[in-house]
Amino acid sequence: MSVRVRIAPSPTGLPHVGNFRTFLFNWLFARQHGGAFVIRIEDTDQARQVPGSVEALLEAFEWLGLSWDEGPLVGGPYGPYVQSERLSIYHRHTDQLVSEGHAYKCYCSSERLTALRAEQQARKEPPGYDRLCRNLSQRERAEHEAGGDPHVVRFAVPLDGSTTCHDLVHGDITWENRVLDDFVILKSDTFPTYHLAHLVDDHLMEITHVLRGEQWISSATRHILLYQAFGWTPPLFGHLPDLLGPDRKKLSKRHGATDIGEFKRAGYLPEALLNYMALCGWSPGTDEEIFSLDQFIKQFSLERVSPAGAIFDHTKLDWFNGQYIRSFAPPDLAARMRPYLPAAGERADDADLTEIAALLQDRIKLLSEVPELTDFFFTDSVNPDPSLLVRSGTTRDQIAEALRASADLVEAAQPFDHDTLEPAHRELCERLGIKATQLFMAIRVACTGKTATPPLFETMQVLGRERTVKRLREAAERLR
Ligand code: GLU
Repeated sequence: MSVRVRIAPSPTGLPHVGNFRTFLFNWLFARQHGGAFVIRIEDTDQARQVPGSVEALLEAFEWLGLSWDEGPLVGGPYGPYVQSERLSIYHRHTDQLVSEGHAYKCYCSSERLTALRAEQQARKEPPGYDRLCRNLSQRERAEHEAGGDPHVVRFAVPLDGSTTCHDLVHGDITWENRVLDDFVILKSDTFPTYHLAHLVDDHLMEITHVLRGEQWISSATRHILLYQAFGWTPPLFGHLPDLLGPDRKKLSKRHGATDIGEFKRAGYLPEALLNYMALCGWSPGTDEEIFSLDQFIKQFSLERVSPAGAIFDHTKLDWFNGQYIRSFAPPDLAARMRPYLPAAGERADDADLTEIAALLQDRIKLLSEVPELTDFFFTDSVNPDPSLLVRSGTTRDQIAEALRASADLVEAAQPFDHDTLEPAHRELCERLGIKATQLFMAIRVACTGKTATPPLFETMQVLGRERTVKRLREAAERLR
């Protein structure tokens, strides 16, 4: 049997990291088995659709570097892969169930259903449809049809017995059929519900493993009943644990970024996000934490997916991101930094950006920190604020003189590098009787316009002799 898995997102908003962890497990499973990874768009809930959702989803896949074998853009032999283009297929299958007695049309109005629920609540009974329309006589049914009454189609759940779903993550899940509701499979707008549509598609698309979110676990036995009614063999099911915040509540905006585009904008690397996501709910059984996708593909197994909810902790993700940033060769880090820089930085040449990358590599966790730490490399002048140049305990004249002396040193330094600059400047402090903290801060502000930067003399080296001298002299001028 060749493995075929699918993910079935509903286009109801931006792609959430919780869904993507589920997508990633499907992807790893498909790649591990040399199987097919299918994307199917489940857009049958027309009211909840958000325009742009599919585009955002595919963009997130592209950014993470995960490819799909069938679905939007690429097509495939089981298409269409968008449910709203498959309505006639669902209608045909609904008709089949109705004609075989496994489903029936229900004409109950929403007013009747609301009143029914209220009565059940008052009697402290579990809510559920009372099957009024399941027991209509031929004549009553004919009357409704003749009147063209609006209706839904409900599945006729067997009244006794029990149904078991063998779950690859949770083990056997069994429900008594009598507690199951006659659930709706076709809505009054003639769109199918998730229960019918996903199942018909999974069957026709020859899906072998359904690895989906835990919220569907309570529906799984209903789906087994539907498979039985059609006379089809169900796929294997695995319900994957939810992503939770550190407070063990379902992961939401409150906990920080949740949509994949936000992680990108915040300067996370796709490698780091993938690495961390794969460890949310799956464990290799060792303490190892840094894995490439290829290593995950080799080691992933459903047996090691924990049935309990998995904690997604942004602090831990930051740690992973820092690890990846430090693992890159500086030219590669420079290439990753480039899109985060302002226009002048984006145009910088590779060699310059590589030097800057090496300077920052040990100091940042997120690529979004880069602009603030590097903007002075990409401007002509930094317009240092005189009040930052001159600290208490020194005078304007003292600092102006020191900055000119520093400029002379920089002009003469042989070679021009931080190993030469630092001792020369320490001597200068002694010569002028000024504290190193005071002089170094003045030089820092003169060269960068800021009080917090990467290490001073390395920064000067990357800035270059000429620009450094010019900025030191300009700052001294400002203090006149
Ligand atoms: N459309 C469903 C959802 O977005 C798919 C669930 C499934 O994978 O079967 O939750």
